[in-house]
Amino acid sequence: MNDLQRYNQFSKSRRKERALPTTREVWLYTRVSSKNQKDNYSLTCQKEAAQKFANEKGYQITEEFGNINESASSDYTRKEFYSLISKVKKTRRKPFGILVYVINRFSRSGGKAISILNDLVENLNVHLIEVSTGLDTTTDEGMVAVLEKLIDAKKDNQNRLKHTIPGMKKFVKSGHYLGKVPIGYDHFGPRVVDPAKRGIEQKIVINEDGLKLKRAWEWKLQGFDDVEIIKRLNAVGVKITKQNISNMWRRPFYCGIQKNALLEGNPIKGKWEPLVSEEVFWGVQQILDGNHQGYHIQTENESRPLVGTLYCPKCGKKLTGYIVRKKKRHYYKCQKCRGVSIAADSSQKVKTLGAHEMFLALLSSYQMDEKYIQPFKIQLQKTFQSMKAETFMVRKSYEKQLSVLQAELETLDERYAYGKINDDVLYDKFRTKKLAEINAVREKIDDTEIEISNLSYFIDKSIELSQNIHKNWQLGNLEIRKRIQKTVFPEGIVVDTTSRTYLTKNVNSLFLAKSQFMKTSSDRKEKLPTKNDEELSLVAEGGFEPPTFGL
Ligand SMILES: [Zn+2]
Repeated sequence: MNDLQRYNQFSKSRRKERALPTTREVWLYTRVSSKNQKDNYSLTCQKEAAQKFANEKGYQITEEFGNINESASSDYTRKEFYSLISKVKKTRRKPFGILVYVINRFSRSGGKAISILNDLVENLNVHLIEVSTGLDTTTDEGMVAVLEKLIDAKKDNQNRLKHTIPGMKKFVKSGHYLGKVPIGYDHFGPRVVDPAKRGIEQKIVINEDGLKLKRAWEWKLQGFDDVEIIKRLNAVGVKITKQNISNMWRRPFYCGIQKNALLEGNPIKGKWEPLVSEEVFWGVQQILDGNHQGYHIQTENESRPLVGTLYCPKCGKKLTGYIVRKKKRHYYKCQKCRGVSIAADSSQKVKTLGAHEMFLALLSSYQMDEKYIQPFKIQLQKTFQSMKAETFMVRKSYEKQLSVLQAELETLDERYAYGKINDDVLYDKFRTKKLAEINAVREKIDDTEIEISNLSYFIDKSIELSQNIHKNWQLGNLEIRKRIQKTVFPEGIVVDTTSRTYLTKNVNSLFLAKSQFMKTSSDRKEKLPTKNDEELSLVAEGGFEPPTFGL
């Protein structure tokens, strides 16, 4: 995958969405400079304006810093500023942002201020908010505007432009990193915030902690929770807080991706060594988003096979399962939305339909009356006649190769995670090789169009399976059930728990074709015959793969 755009979801605008519900608490920093009288706006006025702004925006000012004459030319000789920054770093209860009347109240130190701001926004998820304009760093555009103002403040101060947006852009675009590197890395080279000193010397390397954190990612993939991972890390000498570890999972930096407001929404590959592969990074994202597809998680339960297939009608998230032990009844429910809940099995007492019975009914609805099967087969044959034979077989064999390679990779990772491979260099070498092989096969698969040989055999087999799909689901074990669900409804189904109906999103093309065919066939008596060629065009375009479910 070379789609770097997907890292944009970790940009500040997305972070804002996450940050908003957590807290509306903000801190206030006020300052008047002792030297430069002309840009002074009294402390009382700054405070009043900030309070008014906070009221309007629904912020709550919980801490105040400043209230004093401090020169902003050197950040760390300012006592109040220093205590603000160190407190924001230390505190567990981080504010959403820091209010300043105008940006130059925050700092006039230019490069240092940029570094501090980067640290605040990127590492601590604390924003800078300008009261006079409402500008803030929650979006990329806002971040760039604030950086520009910080540079201007420096320019005013020294009357000399040392840092420029174009200069920083160039630096960042060349894959260099601006600001403080996250835990697990050491940063060598010149002070990177100073463009004048920027050279090719920047070196960001994985340190010893980093090597251990690498394992943490693997543990995360295996479904261990943060508490357990922190415990394990502690045991090998890495101290990390819950907050820091949850920040780590969301930072594309760790898979070598550079995303910075200055890149204007075009993330690039950074010049540092990734701690984990992009594959691992995205695997962890799936787990964080509650989407465990492709990763085996221990919480699976035989009694709740539809976990992973059912989606919430309100928020679109996957439903989770739980059991009411007293009643010995299983349920599916949305973690987020109140009232979205459905019993797994029907109740004879209350006479309500459970999720499983509803699902069986849905599957049976694709069962075709015997009299339609022959004409449907002929129709399918026609539809696929244009497809060439060999390509399909070739594709099948590539797919087999791919699953073997993926299993090998998994075994390798597992061995590493459990400490059976102690040589990191060797592990990386194996892993890179395996990934390259996987990519090569994937490309080959993409090259093949889906075409079918041995057409009538596949059609017969597929139809036979599809006709009995509800029975197979009913009799199948958890694995078979999941496979059926995934094949027929690759994107899952939405359950309306109020009306007790399922809404299908994306249906396997054979099942879609069947339902289309049944519809047009039953209509046929009343209506004029439709043009046969058009009926299944959708199937041909979307590519058709006979579902075998591995049964
Ligand atoms: Zn929901």
